[in-house]
Amino acid sequence: MANKKATSPTKFGLEHRNFRDDEFWKQIPGWASVSRDEFADHKWQLKNSITKVEQVEKILGKRVSKDFMADIVQGQHYTPMNIRITPYVFSLINWDDPANDPLRKQFLPIGSQYLHDHPYYKSDSLAEDEDSPVPLLTHRYRDKVLFLPTTICPVYCNYCTRSRIIGGSTETIQKSTYGANQKKWDDVFEYLMGRPEVEDVVISGGDAYMLTPDQIRYIGKNLLEIPHIRRIRYATKGIAIFPQKILTDDAWFNALKEVHFLGRSFGKQVVIHTHFSSPQEITKWSQRAMDRLFQENFVVRNQAVLQEGVNNDVNIMVKLTKQLEWINIQPYYVYLHDMVPGCEHFRTTLKEAEELEKAVRGTTAGFNTPTFVCDLPGGGGKRHVASYEYYDEEMGVSVWKAPNVKPGDVFFYCDPLHKLSEKAQKRWSDENEWEKIINEVKEKAGI
Ligand code: SF4
Repeated sequence: MANKKATSPTKFGLEHRNFRDDEFWKQIPGWASVSRDEFADHKWQLKNSITKVEQVEKILGKRVSKDFMADIVQGQHYTPMNIRITPYVFSLINWDDPANDPLRKQFLPIGSQYLHDHPYYKSDSLAEDEDSPVPLLTHRYRDKVLFLPTTICPVYCNYCTRSRIIGGSTETIQKSTYGANQKKWDDVFEYLMGRPEVEDVVISGGDAYMLTPDQIRYIGKNLLEIPHIRRIRYATKGIAIFPQKILTDDAWFNALKEVHFLGRSFGKQVVIHTHFSSPQEITKWSQRAMDRLFQENFVVRNQAVLQEGVNNDVNIMVKLTKQLEWINIQPYYVYLHDMVPGCEHFRTTLKEAEELEKAVRGTTAGFNTPTFVCDLPGGGGKRHVASYEYYDEEMGVSVWKAPNVKPGDVFFYCDPLHKLSEKAQKRWSDENEWEKIINEVKEKAGI
């Protein structure tokens, strides 16, 4: 649970201005002799990314116990995501206490963390495929679309909402991962040309970091040349987990700059949406990367995911918010975790999200205060965490409407069962009760 009530003021000083710049990667036995210049090189980061459990053992040597290594191996039987971790993030993990480390939790699963999925989880919880008029595109909001040009990322996050397609297949999920496909992209552009109501395109995936400079240009130019498209956003977790690319991959950075310049010449916005979830991801490298982007006038906004043991704590959330604004990133959203497979241990209750929102508000300027949202299961879109129609805290079920997205539809979000009372858990453990529980909540909500 959030360890502080919203009614008590949060204590914070100026520590959010201090970022580590030590040679932290040298704590990893396999990288003890890697120089600062090598570590700064994006090609070195890519080449040395961890993609297999065996590499974890090789690079760490005796830094972790045999039992913990066995737990990592076990994690591979349950995880919906492949392993892919940049040396930057891997070295920021506290290997003296990996079980409790927020970065280890996000990127390197262990078997002992997993819980049973909620009965109402879905692999496509947000119904993105249902609202897809052409492949690679979700058109849910009238004026905004989500374009997924690739399913590859520079890291694979264990909590990914698109685990059904991102990265390769795992023991638990078979995926139809796809790489860049220009023909399918052209079909997306054609669809958008015929939809004059669309003004805003999120280019996500996957991750824009994995697009080549030519692909960045191709997508940017084609979208910006559609007269009614006014805003495009490249979504990348890269700044958080691989800032070296911004600093040393000039070809990629220049492609992004060109699209940005083209957008400005058309009077249109080209911005970056990134994805820091823990203050531990923020170092002097992040600040240097952001300085470079800031010098080129890029607007960068952050979307964090609320995760148990990572950031569901008032002080951590305030620190994250203040660090982000210090390095010129606008803390835009904090998402309540989606109801997707293999993530029950990450999820928090709606109540907890509401408490955190109340506690963070007032710690800094409103425009830099993240909005806590629930992305409604079933495709109702993002709603403020306090905007539900009804919330049965005992059974952990909230009821929502989205009148401007899907008029007349009713949506449900369910809290993780392990956070409910024993009595509620007992009822949920009986399959015959599931529908009854939802119907009771509907009745109480007057629906
Ligand atoms: S970077 Fe984004 S799309 Fe890629 S694995 Fe992480 S959350 Fe999923």
